[in-house]
Amino acid sequence: MGQVVVISTGGTIASRWQGSGFAADARGGDVLATAAVPDGVTVRVVDLMSVNSARLTTRDQLALLRTVHEVLADPAVDGIVVTHGTDTLEESAFLLDLHHHDPRPVVLTGAQRPLEARDGDGPRNLHDALLAASSAALRGHGVLVAFDGQVHAARGTIKVQTLAADAFAHPSGSPVADVKDGHVLVRRLPERPEPLPLPTADAPLPRVDIVTHHCDADPLLLNAAVQAGARGIVLVATGAGNATPEVVAAVEAAVARGVLVALTTRVPAGPVAEIYTQGGAVDLAAAGAVLTGTLRAGQARIAVLAAALAHPTDDTDAATRTLRRVLGTPAAS
Ligand code: ASP
Repeated sequence: MGQVVVISTGGTIASRWQGSGFAADARGGDVLATAAVPDGVTVRVVDLMSVNSARLTTRDQLALLRTVHEVLADPAVDGIVVTHGTDTLEESAFLLDLHHHDPRPVVLTGAQRPLEARDGDGPRNLHDALLAASSAALRGHGVLVAFDGQVHAARGTIKVQTLAADAFAHPSGSPVADVKDGHVLVRRLPERPEPLPLPTADAPLPRVDIVTHHCDADPLLLNAAVQAGARGIVLVATGAGNATPEVVAAVEAAVARGVLVALTTRVPAGPVAEIYTQGGAVDLAAAGAVLTGTLRAGQARIAVLAAALAHPTDDTDAATRTLRRVLGTPAAS
C-alpha cells in the first residue's frame, strides 16, 4: 500500500451529457471523487487531458508516455493509474507497456457508463485499479488493464464489448489477476520483451495506417497509404493472415520503398500463421510483411509506430529488426 498517482485523460469515466450525447469533460478530481480509495492508499491526481479516446493522437499518447516516466522519476510513488476512454485504451496501454522499464505497476482503467450514471461501473473499476497499482504482488507485471473485476496484461488485451461492463479480454490468453473482496489474486506473469527506450522528444511523428482485407478488395487503399507517406501499414487480413496475389505484390512494392508492413487478422483470437499460398500469409511474409502473432490491428499498429519512433531516420532494416523483436517474430533465415 502507498502512494498512487492517477493520470486523468478523459473517456466515458469522465463523461457528462452535452445536450446531444456524452463526451469527456470532467477533471481527474471529479472522477476520483466517485471511487472508494483502498485503505492505506494516498492518491495524487495529474490532469493531462479530458477527451473521448477516439480523438487521441500520437502526440497525445507520447505526452501520456512522458508523463508516466516523469511521475515514476519520484521514488515515493508506488504505482500509477491512468483513467482513459475504453475505445482506444488498448493502444495507449500497449504503447506504455512497450516502453515500461520499471517494476511499479501502471494500470489503465475506464468505464462503459458515464461519470454520473447510477450504478455506473467507473467507481468499482477505479477502486480496483488503485488496488492493483498499489499491489506489491503486481510489481514486475508491466502495464495492466483493470476492468470489471479482472486485471489483464496490456499486450494482447482488446475491447471486446461495445456496451457491456466486461469490456476487455485477452482473446488468445487469460487474465493476469482477479480483484475480489478488496484483494488482488495474481494468476500469471505476462511475457514481455526488453522495453524500448523513450522516443526522443523531437522525433518526427510517423504516419501508420491500417488497411482491412475483404472479399473483392483490391490494393487501392494499401497503395493510397503508401502515397500518403505512410512509414508503416498494418494489413488486417482474413483468417490466419491471407489476402490475394495482387495485395502481395502491393506489399512487396511498399516494403521495397521502405514501408514497414505488419500482418494481422480480422479473426478475434489465435495467431496469424504461414499456411496458405496464392496470396496467403506464406507469400505476404515472403514479400516482407512481419507477422504480429496474436496482436490485433490497434496494437499491431502501435508496435509499428514504436519501431518507427525508435528509428526516426528512415533506417528501415533497423526498424524492422526492432519490430520483429517487440513482436517476438524472428526473421526468416
Ligand atoms: N467514448 C468513450 C471513449 O472515450 C468510450 C469509453 O470511454 O468507454 O473511448
